[in-house]
Amino acid sequence: MPFVSEAILKFERIQKEKPIKNSFVLGVDLDGVCGDHNLIFRNIVAKELGVEPESLTLDRSWGFEEWGLSVSDFEKLHEKAVVEHRMFRDMPVIPGASEVLWRLSDQGIWIRIISHRLYVNWGHAIAAGDTADWLDRANIPYRDLCFIGAKSALNADLYIDDGPHNIESFQNDNKRVIIFDQPYNRHLSGLRAHTWEDVERYVVDAVTEKLGVAEPQLPGLHDATNRIEHRKGQDYE
Ligand SMILES: [Mg+2]
Repeated sequence: MPFVSEAILKFERIQKEKPIKNSFVLGVDLDGVCGDHNLIFRNIVAKELGVEPESLTLDRSWGFEEWGLSVSDFEKLHEKAVVEHRMFRDMPVIPGASEVLWRLSDQGIWIRIISHRLYVNWGHAIAAGDTADWLDRANIPYRDLCFIGAKSALNADLYIDDGPHNIESFQNDNKRVIIFDQPYNRHLSGLRAHTWEDVERYVVDAVTEKLGVAEPQLPGLHDATNRIEHRKGQDYE
């Protein structure tokens, strides 16, 4: 069957070459990067503990020491936050995430969401379902949705993350990472973004460096972030 073999070989070659030569993969974390995990979790914890939200500082360490939580306290509250309070469904979107990711996606950049939200043994259906639901409602474009702890094992040309252990792991593996600024990662050095507009500038620079050119969003089109509404609305009825 030489014809079939040739076709398969050709297909495999295209699959291998395409992401290397003509595309740019951006690995995007969710909590603390696209979604304001710090805020929603603080408010849920305050409710559960019966204290004022302001009594739990948002200027916290990665291990929540400022809130006086033990590891087991954190685990119990985290489970309640995900399963009962549906934290992954209702998390506020960090300003600019949707707009910038749409603009980058329009330039042909492959958005790969990489999250470690399934790191516990319970609630996977809620966590995964609420994540997909949230991404739709947050209007965040993506081509892959990956749940993995060892994020560096997944290929991307550039990553965005806020978790100190993830950032250090990318840096140790000589992978390029944008540090999304949060109080608990300020001891780390590297490329730091304070806003999504900072992220956009770093990504466009990296794309230009790899591919030689970054295509801007074409003028005259509908605002990218409202494209789905336009398609569902009068333009396409
Ligand atoms: Mg994170």
